[in-house]
Amino acid sequence: LTRMYGPLTALSNVHVDVMTALVSFDRVFEVLDLKPLIDDRPDARALPPARQAPAVEFDHVRFRYPGADEISLASLESIARGDTSPGREVLHDVHFTAEPGQMVALVGPSGAGKSTITHLVSRMYDATGGAVRVGGTDVRDVTLESLRSTVGVVSQDAHLFHDTIGENMRYAAPGATDEEILAALEAAHVGDLIAAMPDGLDTVVGDRGYRLSGGEKQRLAIARLLLKAPSVVVLDEATAHLDSESEAAVQRALQTALAGRTSLVIAHRLSTVREADQILVIDGGRIVERGRHEELLLEGGLYAELYRTQFARQGETAPSPRTDEPATM
Ligand code: ATP
Repeated sequence: LTRMYGPLTALSNVHVDVMTALVSFDRVFEVLDLKPLIDDRPDARALPPARQAPAVEFDHVRFRYPGADEISLASLESIARGDTSPGREVLHDVHFTAEPGQMVALVGPSGAGKSTITHLVSRMYDATGGAVRVGGTDVRDVTLESLRSTVGVVSQDAHLFHDTIGENMRYAAPGATDEEILAALEAAHVGDLIAAMPDGLDTVVGDRGYRLSGGEKQRLAIARLLLKAPSVVVLDEATAHLDSESEAAVQRALQTALAGRTSLVIAHRLSTVREADQILVIDGGRIVERGRHEELLLEGGLYAELYRTQFARQGETAPSPRTDEPATM
């Protein structure tokens, strides 16, 4: 590791600089092309366009993060976060199917493996055992470009470029017209806000521009997803507390975004776990319980405990205080 310290530090700085410039982590990969571990196979073909949302299948999946000799920007980031053992198996025999159009919620303690599961769908990494299939096709057999246009990813933090709303939206769909963008914003329940802005779609957002609240940023991210119109959605639900009005608007936007799509959602909200077609409870890299909300509550196991500690309060208490102060982006 000592030998690698110089290059690693240099790369960390690249990461920090780019993040400061409001570019999402996915974009860092794209711009710097730092993905030596994942590439198209020579015989990769395009994922065939599906008439309906495809199933997403994890077939006895095992996964270990790449070791230090195969260092990637992502593992570098995790080392900076204190994960000291790349190379250890973190998913063991994960087996499930999200049927076409289903919403599958992933819940579990921190470090259980939820994010890792979602990374394998968009091929941030490849499974080290078993297979991940979208629409029956192993994701390793298809071009990354076709996979990434089929699978839309929404991370917890909705990163926006320091640019106009219109350009931020076009990042997801380069050829989109103003009409298409406005329709997506409307469907994500953020249309009125944009209409009320002095320059509409030409309003510049970011620290030197118009500041958006946490809930507004989340809805913009959802609008971006709607514009891209993927048939599979991977979503890490934001944990930030929103006032009840923002929360309700985000939920409505999500319902629109997930309807008719197959989705894997790292769930932090009571309304999401209640609506999920299937909840997978992940612990120590394994699925330890699965079922719907009511069934799992009756089981009285880890889900019931998570429900008591994480979710139940959201149903009982008054709306949480407004903490989505206008954010610097
Ligand atoms: P959280 O709820 O805190 O986000 P999680 O359930 O999403 O947690 P993961 O982020 O998938 O959990 O992590 C699963 C395991 O993999 C953890 O032990 C974590 O330390 C490890 N891990 C995560 N990312 C990397 C990485 N890039 N390199 C090495 N190990 C990693």
